[in-house]
Amino acid sequence: MRYAILSDVHANLEALTAVLDRARQERVDAVVTLGDLVGFNASPNECLDVLRHAGARSVAGNHDVVACGRAAPRGFSPRARQAIEWTAARLRADHRAYLDALPLVDVVDDVCGICHGSWRSPFERVRGPIEAAAVLHDFAAGHPGQRLCFFGHTHRAVAYHQAGGVLRTLGAGEVSLDEPGRYLVNPGSVGQPRDGDPRAAFAVFDAAAATVRFHRVRYDRRVAADRRAAAGLPRSEHRRRGLRRLVASAIGRWRPW
Ligand code: ZN
Repeated sequence: MRYAILSDVHANLEALTAVLDRARQERVDAVVTLGDLVGFNASPNECLDVLRHAGARSVAGNHDVVACGRAAPRGFSPRARQAIEWTAARLRADHRAYLDALPLVDVVDDVCGICHGSWRSPFERVRGPIEAAAVLHDFAAGHPGQRLCFFGHTHRAVAYHQAGGVLRTLGAGEVSLDEPGRYLVNPGSVGQPRDGDPRAAFAVFDAAAATVRFHRVRYDRRVAADRRAAAGLPRSEHRRRGLRRLVASAIGRWRPW
């Protein structure tokens, strides 16, 4: 089996379709998503149509549980809150029921488990090796047979390997699952990457070859931004921060004294 592992689609239809086109070229057999199907961007119903039609297996992210009313927007920035209120008001009833029924964690096969933020909560964030070790601990306690866990939420592609109490951060590219121990992998975000590379991110897990390969895909970001602006949704915080940095560095460069 070859799985396309998608996280943090965030209602970005242009990024999602570009990623699914690439996944088809990669001859994947199934689509798995790690939650945050909605939020931030302007195509929640369309993305859910596409993912449900593709038979994607999914867990719920923090934005998904807020959009369907299962949880309060705990820790949301004002812009994230505005976008999720916009989403909740427009979500089709069948999509709301679908999000409401999604599990928070799931087991995909005899090797692999999936969650959004951590194995405990879609709101928790893996910022580095300490949180990564905690997630692997919780995952192993519930599923001692499984050795690969995917997570999302941070919008940054990363892989960790833990064996004998030692946790290593692995480089991007391809991860071979050939060592004893457990692996924790974040494929990055489809709809709103936050690692400085604006291309959509996803990963392909090949169960037979025991490999995870990271992919980046170009898509028409202007169309997604226009759709967001037309809906009255705020610009992404990542873009705003990037713009602020650009302006600050330009001011620094062109100071006349
Ligand atoms: Zn997210």
